[in-house]
Amino acid sequence: MRTIVVDHPLVAHKLTALRDQNTDSPTFRRLVDQLVTLLAYEATRDVRVEPFDITTPVAPTTGVRLSAPKPMVVPILRAGLGMLEGMMRLLPTAEVGFLGMVRNEETLEASTYAERLPDDLAGRQCYVLDPMLATGGTLVDAIRYLADRGADDITAVTLLAAPEGIKHVEESLADLDIPITIVTGALDEKLNDKGYIVPGLGDAGDRLYGVV
Ligand code: URA
Repeated sequence: MRTIVVDHPLVAHKLTALRDQNTDSPTFRRLVDQLVTLLAYEATRDVRVEPFDITTPVAPTTGVRLSAPKPMVVPILRAGLGMLEGMMRLLPTAEVGFLGMVRNEETLEASTYAERLPDDLAGRQCYVLDPMLATGGTLVDAIRYLADRGADDITAVTLLAAPEGIKHVEESLADLDIPITIVTGALDEKLNDKGYIVPGLGDAGDRLYGVV
């Protein structure tokens, strides 16, 4: 498994504003959207393309276009939804599937409550969107779900990650024989005893959509 911490001053600047407890929800949503587009640039570095002939006003040439089957973008509901537009801005022809997962705040175990994905993901590159890689339980389940359906290259895009979560994902998915990449805006210090990332930004879903 590869972990890429995106080292860019604009990412750090926008993340700082996200972390600030005084940032309101509309600003938070706008910053997440911008940040994801910056992370998506790095996350799609290995997106599959094929040669494609075109003619410019001056001469014929060969360029590239996204290969079929198209990449699949999979936001994890609820907080991953706030990352979808930012990702689709760079991959407008990707398809979108949904996974609804919730973390039990006592056991910190993830469970799936909704799913809208093709049964067959053979040969697909998948991009999982989940803002917070905390314990890693949700991401492990999501990646295994996609791999079981045939996805052959999976990249998770997260805003923040905790070292404990990265370790858990790596160890739990060691048996999977496909490329797995985590792209994150920052690697934070640790998890607290409630499973929150420290210093983190709090509950990403609540900050995006309000407390429900
Ligand atoms: N989920 C969040 O929204 N924030 C954390 O810090 C951990 C999990």
